Parts: sequence; C-alpha cells; structure tokens
Amino acid sequence: MAANLSFDTLKEAVGSGEIDTVLVCMVDMQGRLMGKRFHAVNFVESSFEETHCCNYLLATDLEMATPPGYASTSWEGGYGDYVMAPDLSTLRHVPWLEGTAMVLCDVLDHDTHKPVPHSPRAVLKAQIARLKALGFDAMMATELEFFLFEKSFDEIRKDGFRDLAPISGYNEDYHILQTTKEEGVMRPLRNHLFAAGIPVENTKGEAEAGQEELNIRYSPALDCADYHTIAKNAVKEIAWQKGHAASFLPKWHKDRIGSSSHVHQSLWQDSKPAFFDADADLGMSDLMKHYMAGLIAFAPDYTYFLAPYINSYKRFSKGTFAPTKSVWSVDNRTAGFRLCGVGTKGVRVECRIGGSDLNPYLAQAAMLAAGIKGIEDKMTLAPATSGDVYDDAKATVIPSTLRAATETLRNSTFLREAMGDVVVDHYTRAAEWEQEEFDRVVTDWEIARGFERA
Ligand code: ADP
Repeated sequence: MAANLSFDTLKEAVGSGEIDTVLVCMVDMQGRLMGKRFHAVNFVESSFEETHCCNYLLATDLEMATPPGYASTSWEGGYGDYVMAPDLSTLRHVPWLEGTAMVLCDVLDHDTHKPVPHSPRAVLKAQIARLKALGFDAMMATELEFFLFEKSFDEIRKDGFRDLAPISGYNEDYHILQTTKEEGVMRPLRNHLFAAGIPVENTKGEAEAGQEELNIRYSPALDCADYHTIAKNAVKEIAWQKGHAASFLPKWHKDRIGSSSHVHQSLWQDSKPAFFDADADLGMSDLMKHYMAGLIAFAPDYTYFLAPYINSYKRFSKGTFAPTKSVWSVDNRTAGFRLCGVGTKGVRVECRIGGSDLNPYLAQAAMLAAGIKGIEDKMTLAPATSGDVYDDAKATVIPSTLRAATETLRNSTFLREAMGDVVVDHYTRAAEWEQEEFDRVVTDWEIARGFERA
C-alpha cells in the first residue's frame, strides 16, 4: 500500500522548499529505525536508488555493542556494508519534524543485492510470500502500550533511572478525565501519525498510572509492522519534544502492570475474510481452526520473538492480564489467544503473549509461520478453555525465562524449516548474548538482599 507521499510529490515538495530532509531508515533487530538524514535534494537526485550502512546494524544489542558469534558479520570479517534500498511505497511526511519526509529501506547484500535473510523486513516478507503461495493474505493489527513519565529522557538518565514518576497518579483505564490531562502528548501523536498516512483508530488510558495504548487500524502484515515501528519512534520523539519520556519496557516496576503488544490476526482470500464461516460454530472457518492450532502448538518455539529481553519475562505473572498459557478462549483476557469478533466477518485471533518490546516484523513472521504450519498439516484445534486460565494445570506453558525461550528457539525444527537455519541461528545468538550480558551484572537487588544478611 502506498504511504502518503509519491516520489513525484516529494520532488515537488523538495523543489518548493517544503521538504529539506529525508530520513532513510532500515529496521534493526530490536525493531528500531536506524539510518541517515539526507538532504532532500541529494535524495531525490541520487540516493533514492540506494545508500549504504555498516552491516553491524543487524548484529548489535540495544546499546550498540558488537557481540561476537554472528555468522553474518564480525570484527574478523571487517564489518563491511549492506545496501539500504529505499522502498518508495513507504515514502511519507513526518509531520512532527519540520520539513521532513521518511522512507523505509530493504536491506540487501552488498555484492549480490539479494535480501539479507535475517533483516526483519525480509523475515516478514518471506512468510507473507509463503502465505501468498497458499492463496492467502494476512491482515494484522498490533496494539502499542507504553508509559509516559513526568520527566524527560535526559533528566531520567541523569537521575540514574531512579524514582521514576509516571505522568499520572492513578489507574487511567478508559479514563477520559485523566487522559485529557495527557493530550499535550497524545493529541499530536494521533494527528501527526494520521497525517503521515498511518490509520490511527484511537488512543486510550490503560490499566495503570501513566499507561497509554495506541490502536492502529488493521492492515496487510508488512504495513502493520511498518506502522508499528514508525509509531513507536514517534511516541518517543513527540514525548521528548514535550519534555516527557515514553517507555516501552514491558515491566518498569515490579508493582506496576506491564505493557504488552497484542497482535490481532486474520487471513483473507480475494479481499474476503477467510477466517469467517457463517454456518460454523462461533463463525470460525476450518482454515481459522487450523491456523489457530498451529499458533497455539508452536507458541513455546517462538516465544523469544514475542519476548526478546530479560525484562520481557518479568511481565508474565499470574493475575496481571499477561498470559503465560498457550490456550485459546472466547473473549477471555487471561488466555494466550483470545477469539475476537465472534460470529462476524471480523472474526480474528488476538495473541496476548507479546510484550511492548517485541519487534513487530519478527513477531508477525513467527506467528504466520506457525499458522501456515497449522494449515499445511491440517492441525486440530483443541476446545476453547474458559474461566481463569492461570489456574488451568493442563494448558501448555510458554517459556518463563529468556534462557528457556532461547533453548526452545534453538531447538525448533518447525522454525528452522519455516524461517531457515540462518535466521534461527542469528536470533538464537542475539538471545544468548542478552542473557550473557545480564549474567555478568551484579544487580541492586542481590546487593541489598545479601550485603549484610548473607
Ligand atoms: P479490543 O478492544 O477488544 O481489543 P478492538 O475492536 O479495539 O478490540 O480491535 C482491536 C484491533 O483489532 C484494532 O486495531 C482493529 O483494527 C483490529 N481488527 C479489527 N478487525 C480485524 C481483522 N479482521 N483482522 C485483524 N485485525 C482486526
């Protein structure tokens, strides 16, 4: 789908001086925008074809460290270049930055110009193509939950990330009065994203002080991931412009509710909802049942893609709406998978396992791969669960630590077949490194607990 700026319109806007800067961005393993700020004249004259970046951009951690152990790049290999090839269908205005437009890039091998298989956009495109070969398109929506804080990023960093104060004083779930007080950030966020061609549905207060949710209308899977990535960046930029901080950490305080990113999914054929069968129970087609059976069965294999950091696993706890069981339920928020739009053309499945820190390309790709496997193998969907699923002893439990999720990822024959060894090995290494880094740290908790009493 074209974004809101054609290349010709960009050229005119550059000619008139309306646009002077083009952000040329790729998406890294963490789902962040990385790239360069081009003078717009240079972009429209030449760089629209391609530019280059160091290939370490798909092998760093959150802090831009260069961990060893990746097959794709290393110090020994000299950290060469990738090609960043602008996908001109993603050109858009960036209304919250003066005189600025943005384009997303596909990441290509420097010599062969073939897609780099572990680049997040390529990982998702590969699964979309597999689904297309079966005759279906995926429509997805990812909800974005995050916290707004009183102080700015810089103030919070200088304070050592201590005594964090969210922007509001009480649980603001669906609250109009409290969210009115946050419109200084949230109104420009909605309006700027909308003007950038991102179909914002709404924002709402969430179930904790300072917690927000942004909903974007469902769209083809690649667009959905692009929207999520740009919106997440915009949340932080607009919060920063207004002197506040926004955080997508899934669990910033042990006593506060965590932030998630629920993923709504449905398959379509010839622009018709293929998950819907008017004559079937709950309106669920056989296709939908097979897809869901795959999603549920392989959730432990792909949990890493829904929860990629140490902190992601702090969110999974009983009685917090963050699910830990791979079962499905009809409109029940304690199950990992919730059936929504029952009996209507909007019938869909919502995965509730993912944290607000997921990379939407990788998460969607892994879930599509699981659904495709369910369809290919005509897997049988177990009956829905009901009641409080936290207490369901029979339900499959997803890995509860990054260490465990790394092992299910490494040993997943299904993911290796669906995504390829190169991709699985690459992300297994990313997961291992995250754990190794954490294991090296001596935490405040263990010092306070044991300093005198151990
Ligand atoms: P809830 O509040 O129950 O989570 P919403 O009605 O707000 O549900 O919808 C949540 C998300 O589901 C929205 O982003 C919406 O665009 C998306 N959605 C609606 N229909 C579909 C569909 N058929 N396939 C995928 N996502 C959908």
